[in-house]
Amino acid sequence: MLIHEYQARDLFKEYGIPVTDRKVFESLEGVEEYAKELGEAVVVKAQVHAGGRGKGGGVKFAPTPADALEHAKNILGMQLITHQTGAEGVKVNKIMLVPAADIAKEFYLAITVDRATQSPFIIASSEGGVDIEEVAEKTPELICKVQVDPAHGIWPYHGRKVADALGVKGKAARTVAAIVMNLYKMFMEKDCSIAEINPLILTEQGDILAIDGKVNFDDNGLFRHKDIQDLRDVQEEEPLEVEASEHDLAYIKLDGNVACMVNGAGLAMATMDMIQISGGSPANFLDVGGTATPARVEAAFRILMKDPNVEGILINVFGGIVRCDLVAEGVIEAIKNIGNIELPIVIRLSGTNSTEGKALLAESGLTFELADNLNDAAAKIVAAVKK
Ligand code: GDP
Ligand code: MN
Repeated sequence: MLIHEYQARDLFKEYGIPVTDRKVFESLEGVEEYAKELGEAVVVKAQVHAGGRGKGGGVKFAPTPADALEHAKNILGMQLITHQTGAEGVKVNKIMLVPAADIAKEFYLAITVDRATQSPFIIASSEGGVDIEEVAEKTPELICKVQVDPAHGIWPYHGRKVADALGVKGKAARTVAAIVMNLYKMFMEKDCSIAEINPLILTEQGDILAIDGKVNFDDNGLFRHKDIQDLRDVQEEEPLEVEASEHDLAYIKLDGNVACMVNGAGLAMATMDMIQISGGSPANFLDVGGTATPARVEAAFRILMKDPNVEGILINVFGGIVRCDLVAEGVIEAIKNIGNIELPIVIRLSGTNSTEGKALLAESGLTFELADNLNDAAAKIVAAVKK
C-alpha cells in the first residue's frame, strides 16, 4: 500500500527525521493565507501516488503568496503525467504547501528489501534528486548499498557508512547517521517494503532535511497496523482494483484488450504471456484463487466487464483445488445476470470435474468457444478479438 508524500513526511517526523511544516489543500481556499503565514517562498506540490512529479510539472516554486495561488490553481485538478503514470496521467486531487528549502546538495536515501540476501538494504547516493534512475544506470559506482542483517539490527556504523558515502561532515554527518537509524526503525516497525527519501538535502544553512518521501507498505503486514491502514487513499487507486480487493480478488488492471480470468497467480502470469505470444495484449491480471465459488467468479466477471478496453474474455481454469463445475456455474450465472455479453469468450477448463463443467456450459445455451489447452485458448481468443 502506497501513501502520499505528506503522509510520509508525517511518519518521518514521528521517527525524528527532520522535515518542514506542511499543509494539504483539496481546494484553493486558504492557500494564499498559508503561504503568507509561512512568510517566505513556498513550494506547491501535487500529492499523487506517483513519482517524477517535478518533471511532469507537479512541483512548483512560488516566491510570493500570489504565485503560490497561481500554481495551486494550475496543479489542483490537473492531469499529471509522469514516467510512472502512463500516458493518460493521474488527476491531482490534493496539493501540499511547504516552505521552500535552500538546496546546497541533493542526496538519495532509501531502505528496501533485497530478495537475494533476504535482508534490508540501505541505498544511498550523493547524487540524489530527479535523475536518480540515470545515476543508477550510468554511474552505478555513485550508488552505495549497505546490507543490514535483520537479526543484528541497525548500528551506528551503518549510519556513518552512509554519511561517508554522501560526503557529509561534522554535524550534518551525525544527522545523516541518525536519520539512517530512524528510517530503519520506521521501515521495520511499520512493515514497509520501501522507505525512500529523494531528495534528502543539505541546505545552504548546513542543515539536513527530508523534502520528499515515498513509502510503500507490505500488504501482508497491514493487518497489524491500524494507523497505516487509515492512511489508505482509495481515490488514488484504480477503481476496478479497489472493487476487486473488496471481493478478495487479486486483480491488476493493464492496458490491453483481452481480459483473463484464471485460478492461481502462476497460471495467470503464464496466461498473460501466452496472450502476448499469440499476438494479443492482456487487459488484466486476475487470480480468482483456489476457492472460486460461483459468487466470486461472478464478481470477477463483472469487474472484467467494466473495463471499456476489453474486447474478449479468456477463462483459463485448472481444477486442482477448485472444481471446474463450480467455475462453470459461476460463469453461466454471471453471464446470465449481466445479460447480453456480445464479446467473444474462450473457455479452457481442465482438471477436477472438467467434464461436468463443460457439460454445464454446453447446456447453458450461451455462446462461447471451448479450448483444449492454453496454447489453443490464447490463439482462439486473440483470433476472435482481431475479427
Ligand atoms: P518528485 O519529482 O516527485 O520526486 O518531487 P520532489 O519533491 O522530489 O521535487 C522534485 C525536485 O524539485 C527536487 O529534486 C528538487 O530539485 C526540487 N525541489 C523540491 N522542493 C524544493 C524546495 O523546497 N526548494 C528547492 N530549491 N527545490 C525544491
Ligand atoms: Mn523526489
